[in-house]
Amino acid sequence: MRFDIVSLFPEFVAQLAAHGVVGRAGERGLLSLYGWNPRDFAEGNYRRVDDRPFGGGPGMVMLVDPLRAAIRAARAADPAPAKTIYLSPQGSCLTQAKVRDLASQPRLILLCGRYEGVDERLLQAEVDEEISIGDYVLSGGELAAAVLVDAVARLQEGALNDADSAEQDSFGSDGLLDCPHYTRPVEHELGAVPEVLLSGNHAEIARWRRMQALGRTWLRRPDLLDEAGLSKRDRALLEA
Ligand code: SAM
Repeated sequence: MRFDIVSLFPEFVAQLAAHGVVGRAGERGLLSLYGWNPRDFAEGNYRRVDDRPFGGGPGMVMLVDPLRAAIRAARAADPAPAKTIYLSPQGSCLTQAKVRDLASQPRLILLCGRYEGVDERLLQAEVDEEISIGDYVLSGGELAAAVLVDAVARLQEGALNDADSAEQDSFGSDGLLDCPHYTRPVEHELGAVPEVLLSGNHAEIARWRRMQALGRTWLRRPDLLDEAGLSKRDRALLEA
């Protein structure tokens, strides 16, 4: 999968590509990241990329032309069709279902705003979708792009060392939160590992984990249970 990130801070992209699951996915040839700096497409001695907002008010607005040229150059750099996404607090919220959908795309172009945002005409003409990472305002789209790339990268086949890992995480196909996890030592001053996990009885361990996942979801995110499509057995476990 290919990501093209349009950003005034292309070094940010290099950082993203250097670490963790995203870095490993890159090394394994599962994804590639390219940065496009609108300043490289800006004209004049000052290579201006922003200007004051019409109508007055604080801050600056990113100009149409450098952004449009950067997006178009990114689009032309590869023949695969690319969806163009603007990271924006006004977009629809990024969920794991959305991440799964994005992970099946061959390419994404991610536009990162700065200042007060981007001239609306550019968004109307060049952007397919606006995505938010939550109801708060960041000072730039780069962190939001990093969140999106990380979440999508770990769903690329072969990116995680254990293929089942993503499926067992919270918001997997069952829509529940993950169960609690324990590792060595068995006994610790903070408590002991639940005995069932040491029993070697795989059916009992699976049942315990399912109960924990159901219970946690019920306590912490009951809204998820409505969407989770629980079986009769799950309902019996919840009522137990
Ligand atoms: N004036 C804009 C508004 O209120 O909608 C906010 C501009 S914000 C200071 C600068 C940039 O950060 C935005 O253009 C966007 O790219 C990014 N950004 C801020 N919050 C975000 C969020 N919650 N999700 C995704 N991107 C965000």
